[in-house]
Amino acid sequence: MKIITRFRYWLYYCIVLVFLIVTGCDDSADKPDENGIQPPVDTTKQDTFPALGHDGPYSPDSIYYGRESYVEYHAGNLPIILSAPHGGWKVPDEIPDRTYGTTVTDANTYQLTKVLMDSITARFGAKPHVILSQLKRIKLDPNRDSVEAAQDDKYALRAWQEYHHYIENAKKQISSNFGSGLFLDMHGHGENPDGYYDLRIWLGYLIRGSELDQNDEVLNTVSYKNKSSIRALADSSSYTFIDLLRGKTSIGTLLDSLGYACVPSTKDTGPAGSRYFNGGYNTVRHGSRDGGSISAIQIEAPKPGIRENQATWSKFSSALTTAVEEYYQLHLNRSLKR
Ligand SMILES: [Zn+2]
Repeated sequence: MKIITRFRYWLYYCIVLVFLIVTGCDDSADKPDENGIQPPVDTTKQDTFPALGHDGPYSPDSIYYGRESYVEYHAGNLPIILSAPHGGWKVPDEIPDRTYGTTVTDANTYQLTKVLMDSITARFGAKPHVILSQLKRIKLDPNRDSVEAAQDDKYALRAWQEYHHYIENAKKQISSNFGSGLFLDMHGHGENPDGYYDLRIWLGYLIRGSELDQNDEVLNTVSYKNKSSIRALADSSSYTFIDLLRGKTSIGTLLDSLGYACVPSTKDTGPAGSRYFNGGYNTVRHGSRDGGSISAIQIEAPKPGIRENQATWSKFSSALTTAVEEYYQLHLNRSLKR
């Protein structure tokens, strides 16, 4: 009897095992159906993506995430756009590491930019547009052209396209609702190669360091204004270009008066030969050098005293909000307050 019972159990076990093997192998998603038509493959491995804008229209009450949440867009209703392309942390296996170009992360700029968003929202009673990359820079650099940014990877390229699509959408809304606006590209700089840490903020307007080291008379010309990322702002302001760039009404001088030394500003008119960044792909593409009504400034903040911790970036965000408020009032003759 015992042998028969064991045999029954063994038979039952074999039937269940065969059933599990058969059903486990039955990956019907990969098999053509009886008409020979191949069913769609796993959506996470698609070559094609929904058209950009499929998740719009964008409401200021909402946050939008691109594919796999690599890009985050807080839609806004103020004429201000904040962008943080180098503060991400995600390193998905599906995107190979970039093999050339800079891959250094701007530590804490994701967090800083979100606190800046909250500070601006609290001050003005309305929201800026905010675009953030959650991908670590080794996977994507949104502040480069698509070739260097994504280096032939279709998922990185999709994230790059989404990043700039959200910015373009914000620009379009601002242009039609306000006529002009400001784009701030948030970054961080580290120690210089020689070990010296410049603790000033570097403000980039597409004017090179060596050009900033010239005197006001040389710089305060139409040709320098026209090659800057704040060309539209300079055209609409009643102040001169040099005033906007590094005079009393510049962001640099306004921030300096709040305790944050900047290049350029009235105090530090140029880098005086030392390392300095004058703006990247985002400042070129999304500023007004090549037309349009949105002016751009690249903000390169040192880590000590600014990107260090919650307390330092909160204090800095409050100061930058004040500087932007005054800058906007001075040059566009309008209040940002709702
Ligand atoms: Zn950066």
